[in-house]
Amino acid sequence: MHDTAPTSTTVAASPSRVARFNGFQEPSELDEATRRQIERRAQILAPTYQLFYRRPLDLASGSGAYLYDVHGTEYLDMYNNIPAVGHCNARVAAAVHAQMLQLNTHTRYLYPSILDYGERLLSTMPAPVDRVVFSNSGSESNDLAVRVAQKHTAAMGIVVTENAYHGSTAVGAAISPVTRAGAPSAEFPWVRTVPAPDPYREGENAAARFAADVGAAIRQLQEDGTGFAGFVADMVLSTDGVVTHPTGLFAPVLELVHAAGGVFVADEVQSGFGRLGEGLWGFARHGIRPDIVTMGKPMGNGFPVSALAGSREVLDTFGREVTYFSTFGGSPVAMAAASAVLDEIEERGLVAHAASMGARLLDGMNELRHLDPAIGDVRGSGLFTAVEYVLDQDTKEPDPRRALEVVARMRDLGVLISNTGLHNNSLKVRPPLVIDESGVDRYLEVFERICRERS
Ligand code: PMP
Repeated sequence: MHDTAPTSTTVAASPSRVARFNGFQEPSELDEATRRQIERRAQILAPTYQLFYRRPLDLASGSGAYLYDVHGTEYLDMYNNIPAVGHCNARVAAAVHAQMLQLNTHTRYLYPSILDYGERLLSTMPAPVDRVVFSNSGSESNDLAVRVAQKHTAAMGIVVTENAYHGSTAVGAAISPVTRAGAPSAEFPWVRTVPAPDPYREGENAAARFAADVGAAIRQLQEDGTGFAGFVADMVLSTDGVVTHPTGLFAPVLELVHAAGGVFVADEVQSGFGRLGEGLWGFARHGIRPDIVTMGKPMGNGFPVSALAGSREVLDTFGREVTYFSTFGGSPVAMAAASAVLDEIEERGLVAHAASMGARLLDGMNELRHLDPAIGDVRGSGLFTAVEYVLDQDTKEPDPRRALEVVARMRDLGVLISNTGLHNNSLKVRPPLVIDESGVDRYLEVFERICRERS
């Protein structure tokens, strides 16, 4: 499952849907307060809402990499990337509080903090990226990226990976095939999908096959009159199953995109702000210079703030022809939150920390993989790691059941993770960047226990 799209491990608000779930936890095991809250959600919230886990969590507080439910039970959060600098980070909270008490306006008034933060953010970007637009969510920034690319190229066509997630706006949903279980949609004829690289199965051919498919999709868009505007990809391909290696995967694609006059959009909503333990941005690991970079989620550590960074040239036509304004985007309070997050990342050395904690996590899981015959692959970079389950080590047929079992068992043992991928058969293990050795070791103890239950 991933953060926003429905999957087999999310449970709808409706109690009847819970009752239909015949996993580890029968609905009768839900306590009265939980059952009542689920019922109220069904009465009040639209059916679009989902809950994680068969026994949903009623959380009361958080600190660092830990969450606490209303009964005081502690959970190790190995899932949430938004509170990258820690749940309820005091510095971010204080910065937001102070700014709220002083002034909160919008970008039609002057205030230097938007320039200070913008300059700081752009100093982390390679040429030609030299301008920024602030919004409130990853969806909004990706939506804008598509519109900017379409204006710049005077063409419509966008290529994305087969199980991508890029957002919940109309445009965001169009370029998010995961929300339709990876199926192409006749509703959005301007969107073409290509299978993401799968180095575990494709080996060294993954990058070349991926580039060839992107090339074919671009040609189809050109030939059917749609035209090619751009390519959008999550720089860690999280919903496609978390693809961290080999690096360099996107370099041949970037060349094709540019040769066809298109715009390359690097979606850093998942991979950005140091998560991968090598610099701030996922695209840099692939040795590329995108035209547009979008980011959100950890940018405000939970305060809604997002951005699109792009080259002045690419942003030019949109800037001249379209009036764009996002009321809350880049407000003084948003800039206070975002600045505090960068201060925390820099002063606490969280990128290097993500690298060392990530190595400890990955090494630990690799040492334990022999205990569970269903583990086909363990991969990761920094604090974005995945464990892929298969039915057979030779055929590598996906085993989503085992992944679901492990996610549910972990929850029962006080550790929060989730699963992802086209077949939902990979664990997504992605804790706040501030997790320490004791947190990683605790996760590994629980992982070992679950592996041993199987062997
Ligand atoms: N891009 C990616 C790669 C994402 O994972 C998400 C959220 N899951 C988004 C964009 C959309 O971000 P938001 O939910 O903040 O709109």
